[in-house]
Amino acid sequence: MAAVQDPRPTIVIAGGGTAGWMAAAAFARFLGPTHRLRLVESDEIGTVGVGEATIPQIRLFKDALGIDEDALLRATNGTFKLGIEFVGWREPEHRYMHAFGAVGRDVGLIAFQHYWLRARRMGVAKALDAYALNEIAARKGRMHRGGPLTARAIPDMPYAYHFDANLFARMLRTFAEANGVERIEGRILDIKRNPSGDVSAVTLDGERRIEGDIFIDCTGFRALLIEQTLQTGFEDWSHWLPCDRALAVPSARTEPPMPYTRATARAAGWQWRIPLQHRTGNGLVYCSAQLSDDHAAETLLGNLDATPLADPRPLRFTTGKRRLGWNRNVIAMGLSSGFLEPLESTSIHLIQSAISRLLQLLPGRIISDADRGEYNRQTDFEMERVRDFLILHYALNQRPEPFWQACRTMALPDTLRHKLELFAANGRIVREHEELFTEVGWLQVLIGQGAEPQGYHPLADAIEPGELAEYMRTIEELYAREAEAMPRHEDFIARFCAAQNPAAAA
Ligand SMILES: Cc1cc2nc3c(=O)[nH]c(=O)nc-3n(C[C@H](O)[C@H](O)[C@H](O)COP(=O)(O)OP(=O)(O)OC[C@H]3O[C@@H](n4cnc5c(N)ncnc54)[C@H](O)[C@@H]3O)c2cc1C
Repeated sequence: MAAVQDPRPTIVIAGGGTAGWMAAAAFARFLGPTHRLRLVESDEIGTVGVGEATIPQIRLFKDALGIDEDALLRATNGTFKLGIEFVGWREPEHRYMHAFGAVGRDVGLIAFQHYWLRARRMGVAKALDAYALNEIAARKGRMHRGGPLTARAIPDMPYAYHFDANLFARMLRTFAEANGVERIEGRILDIKRNPSGDVSAVTLDGERRIEGDIFIDCTGFRALLIEQTLQTGFEDWSHWLPCDRALAVPSARTEPPMPYTRATARAAGWQWRIPLQHRTGNGLVYCSAQLSDDHAAETLLGNLDATPLADPRPLRFTTGKRRLGWNRNVIAMGLSSGFLEPLESTSIHLIQSAISRLLQLLPGRIISDADRGEYNRQTDFEMERVRDFLILHYALNQRPEPFWQACRTMALPDTLRHKLELFAANGRIVREHEELFTEVGWLQVLIGQGAEPQGYHPLADAIEPGELAEYMRTIEELYAREAEAMPRHEDFIARFCAAQNPAAAA
C-alpha cells in the first residue's frame, strides 16, 4: 500500500544548535497542527557550544513554550543574571554595570537621568549605580523575583539566565520531539533547487532526500543554504567591531555563582566570565590583527580565577549580517544570519526575535515579496541598532593600547553619532520603534564609558533643591533596603532550582 502523503506544508530546519532547536521548539508549539516539521543535524559536525548568557526577553520565550523556569535552570545548571559588569572598558580598573531594570524613578514627563544630572551638579547625587536596584542586588550577590519585599514603590527587577548551551539545546530538543518535530541525523551533502531557484530539498549521506516548502538555515557559521547555496552576500561590520576570534574555556567553580556576567577589557579585546552552577564559562574575544593566538591563550588562561577544565577552543568570525535574512524560501537564524560579538549577550535573543518575526509573517504556499521584504526590513533595523549599542562600548574608551586608540578614533555609523550628540547636548536618549536596548541601558553604558552631557532637560529645574536632594536620598535608601532583604543568590538557587549535580553543591 502506498504511504499516505502528509498534506501539510513542510518546514525543514537545517542544523540543531541553539538556533535549530529554539526554532524547532517554537514551531512545534505554534505550527504543530498546520505544518510538518523536520530538523536535520549532524552529530559528527557538532555545535558551536558557546552562548550561555541571555537577556531578560529569554523569559518570554520559555513562557511561550510553557516551560517552567526552575525546571529550565535545574536542567541546564543555570543561574540568574541581573546585568553585565564591564571592567576596564572606560580605562583600566574602572567598573560599571549595565544592569537590567530601572535606574531611579522617572518624575512626570522627564526621565530620571535629568534629575540625576542636576543633582550631581549640586553635589547631592551619588554615582548612577546607587539608584539601580538590579546593580545593587547584583553586587551584593542577591536574587529575588515576584514583586517588592519592603515597599510598594520598588520597581520590578528583571532578570535573565546563564545556562549550559548544550544542555539548553538538549532540553529544547526533548520538547520539540515530544511535540511532533522529526529529527533526522545526517550530514547535508547537497542542496537541490527547483527551476525557480528556490531550495527544494537537502540531500544527506546515503542519498536520503529531505524535501520542504520553507527551509530554516541554522547551520551556524557555515551558512550552508543562505550563503553557500543562495549566495546572499554579507555586510561586513568589522571596521566597527574589529574582534574576529575567540577562545572559550570552562573553569572550575570556586565560589558561589554571582548573579551577573562579567566582561573585562584586555589589551586587544575582552574576556567574558559566565557563572553556572557547576562551572564557570570563560572566553577571550580578540582582534587577530593586534594579538596572536598564542598571546590570546596566555591572556585567557592567565586571567582565570580557577583551574581550566579543558583546552581553550578557538572560534573565528566576522562581525556583520547577511544581506537578506530571508532570501527566496530560506530564512537564516542564528550564526548563519550574521554575528555580533557576545558583549551584550544578544545572539540568542536575535534567534528568538527572528522566530517570532517569522511566525508573524509566515507565508502560505506562496511567498509574497511584501512579507519577505518586511521581515528583512525589521531584521536589519534590529541588528543595526544592536550593532550601534555594541560599538558604543568601544568608541568611548580612554584606554592606552593601540587597539583601543583605534576604536576611539573610528568613524561611527550616523545613527550612533546622532545618539551621542543628543546625549552630549542635554542628556537625552531617544529609543526608536522597537529598538532592543532601552533608554536606561544606553544611559548606564554612556555614563559608564564616561560620556558627560553639557546640560539636562530644563524641567528638572522645576523641583526645589532640597526636595531634589531628598528624592535622591529616598530612592537610594529604598533600593539599598530592598536589596538587603533579598536572599543570597546561591541560597535562592538551592531553594528553587539546584541542579542534580554533585559539582554544583561543592
Ligand atoms: C565566542 C562566542 C560567544 C558567544 N556567547 C554568546 C552569549 O553569551 N550569549 C548569546 O546569546 N549568544 C552567544 N553567542 C552566540 C551563540 O553561541 C549562537 O547564537 C547560538 O549558539 C546559535 O548557534 P547556531 O545554532 O546558529 O550554530 P551552531 O551551534 O554552530 O549549530 C549549527 C548546527 O548546524 C549543523 N550543521 C552544520 N553543517 C551541517 C551539515 N552539513 N549537515 C548537517 N548539519 C549541519 C551542526 O551540526 C549544528 O547542529 C556566542 C558566539 C560566539 C562565537
